[in-house]
Amino acid sequence: MHQMTLAEIARGLADKKFSSEELTKVLLARITQLDPQLNSFISLTEELALEQAKAADARRANGESGALLGAPIAHKDLFCTQSIRTSCGSKMLDNFKAPYDATVVAKLAAAGAVTLGKTNMDEFAMGSANESSWYGAVKNPWNLEHVPGGSSGGSAAAVAARLLPAATATDTGGSIRQPAAFTNLTGLKPTYGRVSRWGMIAYASSLDQGGPLARTAEDCAILLQGMAGFDQNDSTSIDEPVPDYSASLNTSLQGLRIGVPKEYFSAGLDPRIAELIQNSIQELQKLGAVIKEISLPNMQHAIPAYYVIAPAEASSNLSRFDGVRFGHRCENPENLIDLYKRSRGEGFGPEVQRRIMVGAYALSAGYYDAYYLKAQKIRRLVKNDFMAAFNEVDIILGPTTPNPAWKLGAKNSDPVAAYLEDVYTITANLAGLPGLSMPAGFVDGLPVGVQLLAPYFQEGRLLNVAHQYQLHTDWHTRTPTGF
Ligand code: GLN
Repeated sequence: MHQMTLAEIARGLADKKFSSEELTKVLLARITQLDPQLNSFISLTEELALEQAKAADARRANGESGALLGAPIAHKDLFCTQSIRTSCGSKMLDNFKAPYDATVVAKLAAAGAVTLGKTNMDEFAMGSANESSWYGAVKNPWNLEHVPGGSSGGSAAAVAARLLPAATATDTGGSIRQPAAFTNLTGLKPTYGRVSRWGMIAYASSLDQGGPLARTAEDCAILLQGMAGFDQNDSTSIDEPVPDYSASLNTSLQGLRIGVPKEYFSAGLDPRIAELIQNSIQELQKLGAVIKEISLPNMQHAIPAYYVIAPAEASSNLSRFDGVRFGHRCENPENLIDLYKRSRGEGFGPEVQRRIMVGAYALSAGYYDAYYLKAQKIRRLVKNDFMAAFNEVDIILGPTTPNPAWKLGAKNSDPVAAYLEDVYTITANLAGLPGLSMPAGFVDGLPVGVQLLAPYFQEGRLLNVAHQYQLHTDWHTRTPTGF
């Protein structure tokens, strides 16, 4: 049962082959049995799950239908859930129970999805290895000595290990696509503004975007359908109709123009990954796509720009965690300043503190123009590169990451080494574009992802290309041994 995709579950439930309650029980038992190896969940919500599953079964018995009605999922632990802890992977919010559901959570619940729990993540979504979580590192089910990627590492490890078919995640600089690549999943970061950020605890507000992590593009289409849409509670939510993502999955790729940036194949890319990317290009050519070399000349400036903008926004967003209103408060403060200092010092881990310091520095009066303003100008250049490229091609293709998943602890002493691994993903966040990662093969038994980028609001196109690719390849069907 645990091998079923969301699409298969929807068919099984519609055909009354099993009930949502039965499936939910199987998966909860599987999580209890197998998750101690992975640490992919921060909270399990058994009671809520069984309640939601029974309600979904009752709705089906009354003639209702829907791809998510009775489908088990989990939420990255930065989506606020009413009366259930939302920790953001931090000691700061270990005791935080939100008074309301995030829009994404509410929408999926209304569609009948069943919440099995809240998944582990890098603290405040800062990281790319899921090692900065206060609840401990998450392990990669493909090799328990390796990281699953981050910051949505819990969602990724859980779905890859078949503990559940799909989960929500967020992507500020790659946190959906990179863990998807590291764990052999399909993950989609939508266009900025497509999925509501209301109730999604902010890391860097101008870059954050929620999206689906699943095994197939078909399942990402189903989950995205339940997440996307205008929300008046989010001032950057975009009031555009949501297309039927499943309807365009089978569009032919004949004549599809795929751009491959020459800058992507630089010295930093593992040659074995480069070869797998070439194979995926050939596969898409067989399906009718036309390949064109393009250039994204400002790509080299993206990492420094991102690592100014994201910490700057984070330092502002995280100022609300002051020991007064939310989360952790130190014992016996001597005065207000002592309360702030010790509450924040005790509540935030080292990576979060580092970013708050970098961000506060970049925003300080004397340095604003030199760092923040300059980074914003680079951001515009990165966007302009993409706009020029999309005049010539429909999709941009390349690696999701320069290397496969590294060993736990390998980059702990050198944060910049980890930042450099974000080179292929962060440009889409800087430009606000949609991006998808899908399985493209293995290196030393570790999964490799190929990334597709598209113009604004072309999520349907990305899912279409990935689905066609998955009809003709079987990388995405591989299961990690032991799971
Ligand atoms: N690795 C990036 C960072 O640490 C991206 C994280 C994310 O997308 N949330 O900022």
